[in-house]
Amino acid sequence: MWYMNEERQLMLNIAKDFVAKEIKPVAMEIDRNCEFPMKLFKRAGKLGFLGITFPEEYGGIGGDWTTLALILEEIAKSLPVLTVAMGAHSLLSGGLLNMLGTPEQKKKYLLPAAKGDIILACGSTEAVGGSNQIEFSTRAVLSGDEWIINGGKVLISNIVVADVYVVLALTSEKLDPATRAGMSIFLIKAGTPGLEIGKPEHKLGWHGSMTGSISFKNCRIPKENLLGPLGGCLQAMFVSATDEFMSCGPVSLGIAEAAYEMAKKYSQERIQCGQSMFDRFQVTRHKLVKMYTEIETLRALVYSTHAVKDKGNLVLAEGRLLKIKGAEVAEYVAREAIQLFGGVGTVIETGVERFWRDAKVMAIGGASVEALMDNIAFMMKNKMI
Ligand SMILES: Cc1cc2nc3c(=O)[nH]c(=O)nc-3n(C[C@H](O)[C@H](O)[C@H](O)COP(=O)(O)OP(=O)(O)OC[C@H]3O[C@@H](n4cnc5c(N)ncnc54)[C@H](O)[C@@H]3O)c2cc1C
Repeated sequence: MWYMNEERQLMLNIAKDFVAKEIKPVAMEIDRNCEFPMKLFKRAGKLGFLGITFPEEYGGIGGDWTTLALILEEIAKSLPVLTVAMGAHSLLSGGLLNMLGTPEQKKKYLLPAAKGDIILACGSTEAVGGSNQIEFSTRAVLSGDEWIINGGKVLISNIVVADVYVVLALTSEKLDPATRAGMSIFLIKAGTPGLEIGKPEHKLGWHGSMTGSISFKNCRIPKENLLGPLGGCLQAMFVSATDEFMSCGPVSLGIAEAAYEMAKKYSQERIQCGQSMFDRFQVTRHKLVKMYTEIETLRALVYSTHAVKDKGNLVLAEGRLLKIKGAEVAEYVAREAIQLFGGVGTVIETGVERFWRDAKVMAIGGASVEALMDNIAFMMKNKMI
């Protein structure tokens, strides 16, 4: 492949070994029991996968975005939910720490996060307003040397297991709709009095990503736990969110490839009237070719976008396209894979339906594809693209 080089191949080989020996044997069990893949997450930290793009000074490996994509694609072929936990930790929360943190904050939080010694969660979404920050009501007020936080967040990944929550809160009366000034970010340690953690929701897919609510009732945190500029964090949030949307490209690619490979193998082995389904039905062959076409189209988009990002571009629109196109391809391919399996495709133990469940959530978790299209349309209108 045009995007491979020696260092990337080395990291990919480590990921392939990790997936084959440690992830694959337990992937179905994690999905069925909805358990957070703690052991695998910690191992990912030790292997350097949680800090690929972080500077070496803060525990990262100073690698590029293409390397990260290769690792995520490989892991998603077996256990997409691990990549979801990694995204909330390294890209949303870790990305904000890396961009906005003081050297002290990076030493205290980013360094152990890169190694998997602590787990991060990022709290933005609220019950009213969803992803529309204009309607948010979680508020932080400075009182002496402490911030007092009140409000709540919903559908937050990595709850319960997180050691530190990276939380958005208003620090002025309301968010300025034009400049978006007035929103700040805070670092809140698990166990802080006034921080209440809800129960993980039972979800369609992404089983084990521990998604749920957190609330703040006069939650007091030290003044120095403000992350980044007072009232001016949304630009950084836009960038870290873009990185997370971009990561949905390789994750969706991995999901689609896994479902496709299973369906291809099955249709070549399943006998119908003395022939394999593949040999007997043109419709089966055409389905597989269409799935393959979509996968290769997505692969081209994923790695060309990552190559552009590696040149230092922010890829604000292209990163969003990866989430939109990725979710579409993964859901389509996984759906067709179930169809090719027939009745056994609906049986959980077959292992193919979980890829469709995980693919479906890709179009919503983190941001709905419709909201992302709105973002891109805004960029078009303002001649940014
Ligand atoms: C599994 C999972 C994990 C998540 N993890 C996190 C996390 O770690 N941190 C976090 O902060 N949030 C997280 N979220 C929340 C996620 O970001 C939101 O669910 C998502 O942004 C959609 O917001 P909403 O659910 O409030 O839906 P709404 O905003 O109410 O949207 C509902 C529907 O309305 C339509 N819609 C909304 N906005 C627009 C628009 N601008 N243009 C056109 N149509 C629109 C879309 O069809 C959308 O699906 C997670 C969600 C899920 C499901």
